[in-house]
Amino acid sequence: TKALEIQGLRKSYDNGFEALKGVDLNVAEGDFFALLGPNGAGKSTTIGIICSLVKKTAGEVKVFGHSIDDELALAKKAIGIVPQEFNFSNFEPVWDIVVNQAGYYGLSRSVAQERAERYLRQLDLWDKRHTAARMLSGGMKRRLMIARALVHEPRLLILDEPTAGVDIELRRSMWQFLTEINRQGTTIILTTHYLEEAESLCRNIAIIDKGEIIENTTMKALLKQL
Ligand code: ADP
Ligand code: ADP
Repeated sequence: TKALEIQGLRKSYDNGFEALKGVDLNVAEGDFFALLGPNGAGKSTTIGIICSLVKKTAGEVKVFGHSIDDELALAKKAIGIVPQEFNFSNFEPVWDIVVNQAGYYGLSRSVAQERAERYLRQLDLWDKRHTAARMLSGGMKRRLMIARALVHEPRLLILDEPTAGVDIELRRSMWQFLTEINRQGTTIILTTHYLEEAESLCRNIAIIDKGEIIENTTMKALLKQL
């Protein structure tokens, strides 16, 4: 099974800028996949389209076989997204953010609460559950976004630059957590501009530059070339 199939994906923004110039990408179920590229390459645009936050200009995107054109609800259900930036509303506590997210997917209150507790504990945020999310440190906010993305237990977890601006200790513990989630069967795609991050975590990699995939191979094969 393929977790993600992208064919001929193009994106021109309203100002005419062509951010994606025909991207093809396949990610197998169970993979830990890196989309690596410099700033401005088109990583966030690609992810935005997969999650239907950004409108594509042309091309096809399927998530576990569900087209985002015809079966958006099913595609969305399969995806958990950890965006780069998130604006938390004024007073909403950590606990509510995770539980309410589960509500959007129609989970019962008891299941939502059980999972919120499990993921907040695993991500070392349990002591912060009553804290307003906007008061958290950058690293805690990032972990909160991971808990929020996992609460409906998606088959595919997508993270946009998950450790940008995060200190080395937290980066390593996040890597460990993601590796464990992947081992348990969740397909993971992350974008990064650190080769080291891709190298530590990922089995397969695509390199994107100026809206085009310039390399798509296994991590092992890429490292041999360098
Ligand atoms: P990355 O995530 O790899 O840094 P992005 O997908 O954010 O790259 O951006 C790709 C290109 O598209 C960049 O040159 C960026 O300036 C441009 N871009 C992103 N969003 C918009 C927008 N809303 N309007 C116009 N251009 C945009
Ligand atoms: P109600 O069940 O009355 O709607 P909520 O579930 O919204 O109440 O919880 C109110 C507050 O109590 C939340 O903001 C949250 O911080 C806290 N809270 C609720 N349930 C738990 C729980 N199981 N563990 C930790 N904190 C909780």
